[in-house]
Amino acid sequence: MSSKKTIHPRSGMNKDDLREDIRQHLRYTLAKDEYSSTNWDNYRSVVLSVMDRLHDRWIETQQGYYKNESKRVYYLSMEYLIGRLLDNMLVNLGVQDEAAEAMEEAGLDYDKVRNAEWDAGLGNGGLGRLAACFLDSMATLGIPAIGYGIRYDFGIFYQQIENGYQVEKPDLWLRYGNPWDVVRSKTQYNVPFYGHSRAYNDGNGDLKFKWENTHDVLAVAYDTPIPGFKNDVVNNLRLWKASSSSSIDLKSFNQGQYIDAVRDTQLNENISRVLYPNDKMFRGQELRLKQEFFLVMASMKDILRRFRKTNDDWRKLPEKVAIQCNDTHPNLAIPELMRVLVDEEGLSWDQAWDITVKTMAYTNHTLLPEALEKWPVSLLRNLLPRHLQIIYEINRRFLQHVQEKIGDDRGKISRLSIVGEGEDPVVHMASLGIVGSHKTNGVAALHSDLLKKTLFRDFYEIFPERFTNKTNGITPRRWLRQCNRELSALITDKIGEEWVTHLDQLKKLESYTDDKAFMKKFAAIKQSNKKKMAEYIHDKRGIKINTSSMFDIQIKRIHEYKRQLMFTLYAITQYNRIKANPDGDFVPRTLLVAGKAAPGYTMAKLFIKLMNDVGEKINNDPDVGDKLKFLFLENYSVTLAEKMIPSANLSEQISTAGFEASGTGNMKFALNGALTIGTLDGANVEIKEEVGDENIFIFGNTVDDVDRLRHEGYNPWTYYEKNEELKQAVDQIRDGFFNEDKELYQPIIDSLLHKGDYFLVLADYEEYVKTQEKVDDLFRNQDEWNRKALLNTARVGKFSSDRTIRDYAEEIWNVKVAD
Ligand SMILES: *Cc1c(COP(=O)(O)O)cnc(C)c1O
Repeated sequence: MSSKKTIHPRSGMNKDDLREDIRQHLRYTLAKDEYSSTNWDNYRSVVLSVMDRLHDRWIETQQGYYKNESKRVYYLSMEYLIGRLLDNMLVNLGVQDEAAEAMEEAGLDYDKVRNAEWDAGLGNGGLGRLAACFLDSMATLGIPAIGYGIRYDFGIFYQQIENGYQVEKPDLWLRYGNPWDVVRSKTQYNVPFYGHSRAYNDGNGDLKFKWENTHDVLAVAYDTPIPGFKNDVVNNLRLWKASSSSSIDLKSFNQGQYIDAVRDTQLNENISRVLYPNDKMFRGQELRLKQEFFLVMASMKDILRRFRKTNDDWRKLPEKVAIQCNDTHPNLAIPELMRVLVDEEGLSWDQAWDITVKTMAYTNHTLLPEALEKWPVSLLRNLLPRHLQIIYEINRRFLQHVQEKIGDDRGKISRLSIVGEGEDPVVHMASLGIVGSHKTNGVAALHSDLLKKTLFRDFYEIFPERFTNKTNGITPRRWLRQCNRELSALITDKIGEEWVTHLDQLKKLESYTDDKAFMKKFAAIKQSNKKKMAEYIHDKRGIKINTSSMFDIQIKRIHEYKRQLMFTLYAITQYNRIKANPDGDFVPRTLLVAGKAAPGYTMAKLFIKLMNDVGEKINNDPDVGDKLKFLFLENYSVTLAEKMIPSANLSEQISTAGFEASGTGNMKFALNGALTIGTLDGANVEIKEEVGDENIFIFGNTVDDVDRLRHEGYNPWTYYEKNEELKQAVDQIRDGFFNEDKELYQPIIDSLLHKGDYFLVLADYEEYVKTQEKVDDLFRNQDEWNRKALLNTARVGKFSSDRTIRDYAEEIWNVKVAD
């Protein structure tokens, strides 16, 4: 697509035009000059100039999709963990250098401008970040896609550490407004709640249903442009904000109760107020259910309105529309589509069902039972009475089909039932997703396999053809091109720029492992990134970091299954070894941890306190010096990840096998030339296949081992008694070595020793520590280490989200993709 229709006089892509536009916006849009402008003003003037350039392409792209009647892909997600956008926009528009020079000539400091942007933290972790990477890839591949989500007033909380404890602060990301989005005040839909489902006779003797007496909330569209990489495509991210419905309470109003009539507004606006901060933890709160339906209803109205503009045959819907649900959170889209087609459009159930199943697809993100959404029927009956009826009917017909297929196996039929049994039964949203869509996918090969063998085994027997794998990926634009400019420049210098959109091209780097000059540069870049990280730490914490130490990093949400506790036990062990032998020849390490704990997850929050206490001990011990540092950095976010990952030598991916569905942090590290120490879990398995066994450190019990251990009756005490160093570390935690309050860490001791160590920390500890010794040995040989690091970068092209999206496009959405 060319930009022939460029209207704006200053939308040129060269430095001079950019500079002039920045100046113009500062003065004529923001009414500031170089004396009065703040970093925020400068940032805004840059954003306004970038937006000018996006708008032409945005409009043309959308027009093109409309004219071509392209099949649309709709990605429904409760979370988009976007982070900052400025660099992303500049990189994808291909004007980063020009913009940098333009800023300089306009007297602005690029770093200060960049840092004026607050992260858009509309997600918890991996799931929300995946959605953001997918947006980038869909635009880059020219897929006519729209992302739908919620414009939360408060994203994921800002984490502060006070006295070693996590303290949550509200994330006021919209405090000064969001310069990247455009409100579409006229694109708004009523989202009904409550009321009842009225049965009536349609005159032809058919029983019909109508959802009535609802209480409505308005959803207003806010659009953010999503540019592809240097292809003039600009897709749309549409986030809904709740506002009071135009229908204020007229009765109260007429009775003179003006305040009461208007007061309700407040309640409605609560729907998009705040992101629930739980990662992989379902809590059946009504407001959360409202949020999910709010997303579904507004998006579905928008999707079907767009379809109807150019189509009058509902049977064509699956040819023109693909809807992907990011986890079960948007799975009410299934009964909602049925409701529209049956109740409003008058289709027969069978017709409507065929269309719905062909249109919908569902991605599963976890096997953890506590994460699976199960909504109480009582809640649904009250909030969404018609949808509950439809779910019951879907289930009735499905179970009938099952019975015809497998006979009267009561146990199996009960396990397959979408609606549970008992006093307050629940609706299993995952089951609804499988039954109501044509594809269900897991997010790494191992995970998809486990879905078929465990969680969804019964469903797999009924619908084997519906189950598929789509291994996650990350966008190379943000996670290499942007966050590691030096390494990107080096790579581009050697193999050209094609790798940015065809990440497999990095394979060409393999031939440079013997090129001394190249390897020297490669090592120097890592060193430079470590130096920047060390400066950041010094700024924030006043701690001096040894930049020739190994940067060993674990960053991700704090979860028991991710085993930050095992990393901590390693830190303690290393500390004890140094203390026992202060003049020993240790490979110096800087252990860095970051991550947020769900505010209600007591154990995870206690881990944070422990890590800070252990760090306090280690970092202030003169015997240790710069041989070891252990630091918990506060407020893990996309922006912090972008700083930390390029500085890593070693990536910690040490979840209990079978628990991490995929992981994407693992991919970001390997791409930036870190070696992985990890278990055979999630996408680690595939990373190992790609980089080769000799270029990754794999340890620990496998999924099968874990299974066997549990069946044999796993006893953590035997591991504790048998390993002297493990016992010492655990005892130190128990006996007040890190905190004078000896009760404080008792819950951790209990979980490890008295409650069965569910995540097998003790079972994996010994091999983990031994493997860390092998890591040390390799690190002593820097040339060999760097060679393996480069091979990691060179061989992880598979984990581009472009590849993931191609797979979705071909095998689930049936849409064509640019080469
Ligand atoms: C990539 C990313 C994640 C996911 O990390 P995992 O190690 O896969 O759990 C979480 N949060 C942020 C900010 C990320 O960038």
